[in-house]
Amino acid sequence: MSRQKIAAGNWKMNTSIEEGLSLAKALISKEQAGDNIVIIAPPFTHLHALGKLLQEGSSIKLAAQNCGYEVKGAYTGEVSVDMLKPLGVEYVIVGHSERRQLFGETYVDVSKKINQVVAAGMNVIFCCGETKEMRESKQHMGFVRRQLESNLFHLFEDEMSKIVIAYEPIWAIGTGLTASPEQAQEMHQNIRSWVADQYGESVAAQVSILYGGSVKPGNAKQLFSKADVDGGLVGGASLKADDFAQIIAAL
Ligand code: PEP
Repeated sequence: MSRQKIAAGNWKMNTSIEEGLSLAKALISKEQAGDNIVIIAPPFTHLHALGKLLQEGSSIKLAAQNCGYEVKGAYTGEVSVDMLKPLGVEYVIVGHSERRQLFGETYVDVSKKINQVVAAGMNVIFCCGETKEMRESKQHMGFVRRQLESNLFHLFEDEMSKIVIAYEPIWAIGTGLTASPEQAQEMHQNIRSWVADQYGESVAAQVSILYGGSVKPGNAKQLFSKADVDGGLVGGASLKADDFAQIIAAL
């Protein structure tokens, strides 16, 4: 996968199956032909129905919000990548700060999940980003760099083509606060340079780096206009078809 403009909607634990189907149908009706990638990540329970709907004639791609780190076995409540793939799931969000903070996912868990997704031939949307305290004490660059080193840099060079990086400052997620386009660009440029240090310039030039954290129709264009911002991972605003369509248009 080469560097592409991407708008990914993370629905989190929202929508009934009926609401999810209506939202997806509304997005399909607003779909415009183009080279950009649009992804929706509904709850697990919706993936089967939405996979079928999208396969009937939409270029919108399907993501899971999480996956198990084993293939099968006695892991109550977990869903493996092999269960997701036949549903039409092409992407899995891994390492979201809500998973890390609320559900205690460790660096080891995140790396194991990434390995599962890559081994299954699917794509990872890898989330990283600092807390407010880290930014205020100017530790944000070092922290995000360590997240990449801990979770991504064990991958082989060719596996990096399966990785989309989403920089999501935790202080901006669901808070209405957004990183300024300059703050986002500064971090994205650094992320790309760390990938270049590890894998070389051509790999770094190909990796898509999304910004996430209160992306809205009103700020998407400015954020996406920055050289190293290749689109957005969108939570709240992806639950409204009109808002998400405007964000897609801002790509
Ligand atoms: C997210 O959860 O990935 C996210 C960016 O949420 P929001 O857009 O609501 O801040």
